[in-house]
Amino acid sequence: MRADRCFDGAVLTAKRAVELAAKLGIDVYETEICLPCLSIVAFPLDEGDEPKTRGATVSMTPHLWAEGLELPARLALERARARGVKDADLALADVEQAGARTTIARAIVRVLALQLVAEMRAPLN
Ligand SMILES: [Zn+2]
Repeated sequence: MRADRCFDGAVLTAKRAVELAAKLGIDVYETEICLPCLSIVAFPLDEGDEPKTRGATVSMTPHLWAEGLELPARLALERARARGVKDADLALADVEQAGARTTIARAIVRVLALQLVAEMRAPLN
């Protein structure tokens, strides 16, 4: 039965992680995150280069996580769990086990990178 459990959805799928990340209410400017590092993800995202975006996300997430994303990400997930948001408990369990090497950590980085792209494209006021 142990083998079963390993493949039984213990890890949040990338698609569900992205849906959850979008509901967390994390803001790129309220989060102590390294913007130069985030921009490494934001540039290919802005260009619509999906393979490059994915590669940059996987390689930058552990760095961003260690640099200060972990705490706000965990707090946002705990708030979401308290609100009863789908998959928040699963995502927290993933983070507990594997930290930055999780679909939810990468999805959060992607959401923040999207916010940075929107900001770069916004007219200056
Ligand atoms: Zn950095």
